[in-house]
Amino acid sequence: MGNITKEQIEITKVNTSKIESIDFNNLAFGQVFSDHMLTCDYIDGKWQMPKIEPFASISLMPSAKIFHYGQSIFEGMKAYKDSNDDVFLFRPMENVKRLNISAKRLAIPEIPEDYFMEGLKALLDLEKDWIPTKEGSSLYLRPFVFSTGEGFHASPSNAYKFILACAPSGPYFSGKVKVLIEETYSRSANGGVGYAKAGGNYAGQFYPTQLAKDKGYQQVIWTDDTSHEYIEEAGAMNVFVRINDTLLTSPISERILDGVTRKSILDIAKAEGINTEVRKVKVSELVEAAKNGSLKEIFGAGTAAVISPISGFGFRGEDYEIPEIDNAYATKLKNRIVKIQTNKTDDPFGWRVKV
Ligand SMILES: *Cc1c(COP(=O)(O)O)cnc(C)c1O
Repeated sequence: MGNITKEQIEITKVNTSKIESIDFNNLAFGQVFSDHMLTCDYIDGKWQMPKIEPFASISLMPSAKIFHYGQSIFEGMKAYKDSNDDVFLFRPMENVKRLNISAKRLAIPEIPEDYFMEGLKALLDLEKDWIPTKEGSSLYLRPFVFSTGEGFHASPSNAYKFILACAPSGPYFSGKVKVLIEETYSRSANGGVGYAKAGGNYAGQFYPTQLAKDKGYQQVIWTDDTSHEYIEEAGAMNVFVRINDTLLTSPISERILDGVTRKSILDIAKAEGINTEVRKVKVSELVEAAKNGSLKEIFGAGTAAVISPISGFGFRGEDYEIPEIDNAYATKLKNRIVKIQTNKTDDPFGWRVKV
């Protein structure tokens, strides 16, 4: 860190802002975009100075390698604004570091951390008015990198583009989520790219998820690719299970994404005196616990929804309901993390970063 400062970033502003046309009281998630974006090009063997430009289409040749070989990675993070108009990020360095972990696995050159962070700060200075303040709302930030170099040859590109775009967003509503435990398809495999936020991981999930939707489920719980005996993730979220009063989640691995929400929830749960266990969780254990009434909660954890409670699961043609309970861990943990993120409570963990 420390090679560039946000003041050095060249800014090209839009002629007319479109902010007046946005209804900030009825924001969906990730559907409208702010006026500007941060961009940075990798050419001639190095990342060039980041710039801020109007949010607009980009032009690529049909021979650009992104279309053929899928070298593409992304991140998801949020910016919040409190009642004093102060702007906050939540553990942003975790996203910077993870983007570069993904970059390495996809043979994409790593972006200098200060280009990302100073660029993001300059962008937030400019887009401050785009940060919604209504409860559950935030400015969703989408950093991504893809190959722009050309050629019909399956090899890494010599040119890449990094873009960070902003979407003022309301809460990520999923409603009651019933999940199907998947035993045929896998999200990721040993030695694969499951731990990276690589675009292709999500493309591969769409078809099995569509099949689950056709059967009346909203989402899939992925199991390990070799035995399908252990649960790993819920859609594109990490997954937690509460059996009696113990909160369980699988250890991260080369197949499981190291979620910022997951690790924050583990720390908050410990601080709240909740008994936590990080260990593999068997599907058979879930079924057993659902049958004897000790399965109290299942929920997904990720930046977009924060925590998404699961109301039941299907496995081998049987459906298992999880009755709603008072004092759910999901509610308690979500409230605490959101209050930390939005500067409504103290932050003993040191996660909140004022911009
Ligand atoms: C992004 C993502 C998560 C959640 O990560 P956060 O850092 O909490 O947003 C979990 N699993 C997968 C597969 C993901 O892509």
